[in-house]
Amino acid sequence: ERARRLGTRYAVHEGTPEREAARHLQILTHLRTALDDNQLALHYQPKIDLASGRVTGLEALLRWQHPDWGNVRPDEFIPLTEQTRLIQPLTEWTLHRALHDREIMLQRGVDIPIAVNLSSGLLRNREIVRMVAQVLGLHASAGWLQLELTETAMMEDPERSLAILHELVAQGTPIHVDDFGAGYSSLGYLQRLPVDTIKIDRVLIQHIDRDARNAALTRAAVEFAHVLGLKVVAEGVETKAILQRLEVLGCDAAQGYFIARPMPRGDFLDWFEHHDGRFVPPEDST
Ligand code: C2E
Ligand code: MG
Ligand code: MG
Ligand code: MG
Repeated sequence: ERARRLGTRYAVHEGTPEREAARHLQILTHLRTALDDNQLALHYQPKIDLASGRVTGLEALLRWQHPDWGNVRPDEFIPLTEQTRLIQPLTEWTLHRALHDREIMLQRGVDIPIAVNLSSGLLRNREIVRMVAQVLGLHASAGWLQLELTETAMMEDPERSLAILHELVAQGTPIHVDDFGAGYSSLGYLQRLPVDTIKIDRVLIQHIDRDARNAALTRAAVEFAHVLGLKVVAEGVETKAILQRLEVLGCDAAQGYFIARPMPRGDFLDWFEHHDGRFVPPEDST
């Protein structure tokens, strides 16, 4: 009985703030090495235009393959970096890798804009403006880089964020609102943001073929975005039924496992060529 109680106590200790903090510190320490040690990669997930099936965009998603831990998920380690200076070199690495991959894709004749996700903390200072300007300056063509930011990111310290967003847009990088509908979406505030696309979060999209309320909410978000002159991408499309439903709801574009998973650059290029740049749902799939 005593041993069991001790065991329970120990289990409780596992999740203490101290232990969590130690684990977080360990992740951050290893991430510093990962940056220099080639453990990071970007995978690319296509976005398609719903009417034509054409691939109109790519999202770059960070992958960390740790030699002992295996894959570490970005939503586990990226939030940790936001409280540290590490978010800067990590973002810089991502932007430069996206540029590098962009150039290789162009050599294969594939000219599709790449969206890079930005952490919320980056809008707190102008360093991000410099970093983006630098990668843009290294590449001849304009319009290839887009930035995805959540609404929460843009609503923290709105005055400063807005000024920085305007600078990013002025430099030629369109801003997409990520995970729309997942948090405290403020329709009024969206109007003030210099954004040109919203990405409706997977939680809303997931059941639109079975849940009338989610379908109605999605339709409302699409209509609202269109009134503001914004484009709408649906995230997390996992079935053919959902893809077909999105077209009825007036959505412009879609992204999700049903279309393609995030892939390393080479796999994406093969996939793209195999599909001739267009995604057509297989006849018999669901
Ligand atoms: P996000 O930007 O909203 O990205 C969408 C996430 O959903 C990705 O997870 C993607 O792999 C996953 N996904 C795509 N289609 C489907 C689907 O049909 N079903 C399901 N269940 N999931 C789908 P991932 O790659 O694990 O990234 C998670 C989050 O981490 C991202 O959410 C983004 O917020 C962040 N993130 C990823 N890469 C970066 C990066 O380079 N920089 C920053 N700051 N954040 C990043
Ligand atoms: Mg994103
Ligand atoms: Mg998202
Ligand atoms: Mg997300």
